[in-house]
Amino acid sequence: MALRLDGRQLAAELENRLRGVISGRLERAGRPPGLAVLRVGDDPASGVYVANKAKACARVGIHSLVKHLGADIAPAELLAAITELNNDPAVDGILLQLPLPAGLEEAPLLAAIDPAKDADGLHTLNLGRLLKGEPGPRSCTPAGVMALLARHGIDPAGRRAVVVGRSILVGQPMALMLQAADATVSVAHSRTLELAALTRQAEILVVAAGRPRLVGAEHVSPGAVVVDVGIHRLDGGLCGDVRFEEVEPLASAITPVPGGVGPMTVTMLLVNTVVSWWTHTEGGDPGPGSVDNPLADLLP
Ligand code: NAP
Repeated sequence: MALRLDGRQLAAELENRLRGVISGRLERAGRPPGLAVLRVGDDPASGVYVANKAKACARVGIHSLVKHLGADIAPAELLAAITELNNDPAVDGILLQLPLPAGLEEAPLLAAIDPAKDADGLHTLNLGRLLKGEPGPRSCTPAGVMALLARHGIDPAGRRAVVVGRSILVGQPMALMLQAADATVSVAHSRTLELAALTRQAEILVVAAGRPRLVGAEHVSPGAVVVDVGIHRLDGGLCGDVRFEEVEPLASAITPVPGGVGPMTVTMLLVNTVVSWWTHTEGGDPGPGSVDNPLADLLP
């Protein structure tokens, strides 16, 4: 029976740690950490995600500010809203909830977020920092996967890792983080030939293809660690990119869906926000890495 990599349990442990960090520093900082979430339009799934993030903030003592803007907002107006949050000294993290309504281009809006307040770790500067091994906010989902592996004593060093998916949101930063942790990494994508032959080489297999139940027993070697990033609503239930019931008997460790990677993504958003608050309130804006922070071990 494979070890369950339980994201709910680790998220709860890390929330405790965050509560302690925030309360221990509140007096010196003079204000709680602040996270601003920009929701544009009425995508129902986004509504659920934004509400979950606001609840998680409340649990640890982060002040959250949700701005809900109409789907017909002009790009210039949205840019102005981002600039206002960039200039707000009570805001440490800014999150633009994706996807945006049709007609709004993501890239210039993400680029407008102050990199020092980039709670999602998706700003070009911060992706560059990850590439170069410099400190900075990290992309939440892959950082959450690294925390789950570390918590269960799974050290990627010297192991063969395969990441299925090469998105900027998940696959690419995941591959960089595993490589930084000294794994030997291959990345598969939709044009990869003989996917199963490649994934069977993996000692650590991370699947982020966005294809329900793509990966089954034929893709996995006995003893592999399998991380399923996918999340889909199918036949009234939730499933991942992995056929859990087929893969679990083979794997040495596996993430469930739900309750694996998902809760960790939200927790890493909180971590990025609290680290940014720590840095901002340590005096001016010296930039990431210039101030020691008590959560540095969680930013791979
Ligand atoms: P995405 O932007 O759609 O990227 C999917 C990637 O998978 C692409 O690189 C694509 O290749 C590759 N791919 C698609 N079909 C494939 C196949 N048959 N074989 C191999 N590779 C294939 O998706 P994403 O944003 O990275 O998200 C991936 C999944 O994770 C989604 O289900 C999403 O909902 C989920 N997700 C979950 C969380 C969480 O917190 N649990 C967070 C973020 C995302 P090409 O580049 O060639 O197109």
